[in-house]
Amino acid sequence: MSANEPGQPGQPDSGVAAHSVDLDVPAVALAIGAHPDDVEFGCGGTLAKWAAAGCVVHHLALTDGSKGTWDATADLAALAARRQVEQREAALRLAGSSAGTVTFLGYVDGELDSTLDARRRVARVIREVRPDVVLGHDPWKRYRLHPDHRHAGLLTCDGVVAARDPHFFPELARDHGLTHHRPQHLLLWEADAPDHAESVDPAALAAKLAALEAHASQFESTMHAVDEAQLEAFRARVTERLAGLGRPYGLPAAEVFKRISDL
Ligand SMILES: [Zn+2]
Repeated sequence: MSANEPGQPGQPDSGVAAHSVDLDVPAVALAIGAHPDDVEFGCGGTLAKWAAAGCVVHHLALTDGSKGTWDATADLAALAARRQVEQREAALRLAGSSAGTVTFLGYVDGELDSTLDARRRVARVIREVRPDVVLGHDPWKRYRLHPDHRHAGLLTCDGVVAARDPHFFPELARDHGLTHHRPQHLLLWEADAPDHAESVDPAALAAKLAALEAHASQFESTMHAVDEAQLEAFRARVTERLAGLGRPYGLPAAEVFKRISDL
């Protein structure tokens, strides 16, 4: 897999010093989010585009999403169960017949920590699905308040390192046959200084929106959309955001990332 380097078509007219646009479509991708719905916000268009070209798209949700409500009396176990159903539906809406596994590690929402055990569990999933590209939160985004997003980013990066080297967690190979695996690219969304754009075509944008709307439990607290007019406004906000992200790269719409390819 290679990426277009600076000097090739698609480079921004200004403001982005070193950049690349559109990786070759990977055979397998793994997207890692703190909560159900984070992946759809961060890289849903990219995953939908790749899936349409045959990429198998796997999801890993680290927490149970059980704090994703403003209802102080909510049944949190029921909410966590509902969010699993929503995440599976979102994965299908993004990838259709290219949808891969959807794994939930089940850490309590709001209490995710980048422990050695959590790192081992993330590395295990990476070794199981053997992605060419891993996507996740950028843990180094400044002034990020939500601890789950910070820890999810660290676990993604640390999980990649542990997955790629044979002497990390040797029991994974010894007891489970999960030998080391080195992805080719790591793409981090929410980056303060993105250096890579993935173009999002209209079909992929439509799939991203449909996948976001699979997370119906989040309409009030995250999408701020409890009726059709507000839902339409939400769609417009997402559409405008992707147009804005694409503009510096000369793209009609894009999702942008910090790309790490020397893995
Ligand atoms: Zn989140």
